[in-house]
Formats: sequence, C-alpha cells, structure tokens
Amino acid sequence: MKKISFIIPCYNEEDNVIKFYNKVNDIFKDRIKDIELIFVDDGSKDNTLENIKKLYKEFKNINYISFSRNFGKEAAILAGLKESKGEYTVIIDADLQQNPKYVLEMEKILDENKEYDVVCCVQEKRKENIFKKVFKKAFYKIYKSMLKMDVMDSASDFRLMRRNVLEAIISLPETIRFSKGLFTWVGFNTYYISYKVEDRYSGKSKWSISKLFKYAFDGIVGFSDAPLFWTLKLGLFFVVIAVLGLIAILVLFIIGIKMPTISLIIICALFLLSGSTLISNGILGKYLSNAYNESKNRPSYIIKESKTNDKKD
Ligand code: UDP
Ligand code: MG
Repeated sequence: MKKISFIIPCYNEEDNVIKFYNKVNDIFKDRIKDIELIFVDDGSKDNTLENIKKLYKEFKNINYISFSRNFGKEAAILAGLKESKGEYTVIIDADLQQNPKYVLEMEKILDENKEYDVVCCVQEKRKENIFKKVFKKAFYKIYKSMLKMDVMDSASDFRLMRRNVLEAIISLPETIRFSKGLFTWVGFNTYYISYKVEDRYSGKSKWSISKLFKYAFDGIVGFSDAPLFWTLKLGLFFVVIAVLGLIAILVLFIIGIKMPTISLIIICALFLLSGSTLISNGILGKYLSNAYNESKNRPSYIIKESKTNDKKD
C-alpha cells in the first residue's frame, strides 16, 4: 500500500500539471515509491489530459481519470478519493498555489498523533480581489451562524486524511457536494495548520463571483434549513408591520390628520413586499431544485477514460 495518494483536480491546467509533478518529485525524491498521484481531468478544453498522459507514460506512480465534460471541482475530488489507495490521502490543487511541501508536515502530524484523523490547511492572507474577500467573509459569517457545527474560517480543501475519513466522505451519497461542509459533518479529529497560498503558476482562477455565489448557496442549502425559516420570519415581520401601519393610518384618519406622502409610503411598502416575496420564492425554489436534482439520483460525474490500476515496479 502506498503511504500517500495525491488527488489533483484539474480543469484547464495544461501548463501546470507537469510543473506540479516536478515539484512533488523534488520534495519526495527519496520516497517516490511511497506516493501515487491521481490526476482528475475535469473536462479540460486545453491540453491538460495530453500532458497528464505524458506523465502517465513516463512515471510509474501516476494515475488519471478524465471526465466526459466539466463536472466541477467537487465531482473531481470525489472521483479521485474513490480511486485513492494510499494509507493517507491528500487533496491538492494543480496550480501550485498549495505547495506540496506542506504534505510532509501534515504527514508527520498524522504519524505522530494517532488521535488526529485529518490535517487541514488554513489559508494565511491571500491575494484576492476585494469582492471575493468580502463575499467569502460574509459567507462564513452567515454559514457559521446557521450551522450547528463548528466550521473553520478559510479552511481549504487542502487536507490530508486517514482512510477512515476517506471512507466516510465517499459513503455520502449526495451529488450536490460541498466538501468543507461534508468534512465538518463526518466529524473526526481535525488538526489545523496554517499555510501560505502561493501565486498561481499559470492560467486563471476558475471561480467567478457568480460561480462562488452558487457554490456558497449550495453549501448552505445542503447543510441547513434555516433560510426556509427566515422566509417565514420575514413574512411574519411584514404582516405585523402591515397591521401596525393600517392601525396608524386609521387613527390619523379619525383624528383628521392628512398625510400627503401616504401614496409614497404605500409604493415603498409594495416594493419591499414584492421584493421580499421574490427572495422567499427564490430560497424555496433553490431547496426545491436541489431536492429535485438529488431525487434524480444521477452520478456526480461521467468518466470518459481512466488509468487507475497500479503499475508494476
Ligand atoms: N478545478 C476543477 N474543476 C473546476 C474548477 C476548478 O477541477 O470546475 C480545479 C482547478 O484546476 C484547480 C483547483 O480546482 O486545480 C482549484 O481551482 P482554482 O485554482 O480555479 O480555484 P482558486 O484557487 O481560485 O480557489
Ligand atoms: Mg488556485
């Protein structure tokens, strides 16, 4: 059994995969037989797969899976985890933002501390645009307030786990997946270390604000029904306001005070009401659509080709 399996989700990383392998090779040069690398090509449109195949032909410890189209990083992680054969498994990005040197540190922690099952890397300050920063901060604030679980801010998917954790994660059947939530949900003792996110070696981040928004929304919907109760509370709030408003208007009318701005107030109230009704419908709709998608029971990904058998030494 290999000591460490690397799961590397790749989407349009043609200039990074070989560089990534070389870096791992440098760090683990004396122990290359101890590790296996599982590249998961998530439907890349560039030469990522071709470059992975070059590595596969050249080195014994390379495996790969290639999807029929882009299914998303979460699906790529799941596919990789299912193929992992190592005693420990690490999820790591292909773009060299997560330096493989930290894997040695994580391995040492698991080797020396039997009571821990996962080591999770937490990002130190990261160079990101201000919108993403604010968005992520706000998301974690809301997320933590809703979930009854302890979620670590800025915890990344860069983590090393024992097989018990891996088995637990792959046993979860959902197709709409949010790893940070799943890792928290399965429990186990997690050791946190901080790491410095490096610059992307080549290419661009695949996460736009709208992709992040959808991912965050799925993360909330997958783990909490609190937003459904927000809509109920919002509805109740507006009913109370409407009743109080009506009483106030009635009293003013009885005592003979004219209100020239009354129509303006009514228009504003209407906007507020229809806006909040639409938001509530949107939240309800999201739960419905996620339930609908899960009920279809489709697989998280379709494999076009793969080479995941252990090669001979
Ligand atoms: N990734 C993927 N499928 C996607 C988007 C991203 O497999 O649909 C991979 C990507 O190739 C990289 C990792 O996930 O190895 C992290 O993606 P990225 O660097 O774009 O995210 P960021 O570092 O900006 O959070
Ligand atoms: Mg990146």
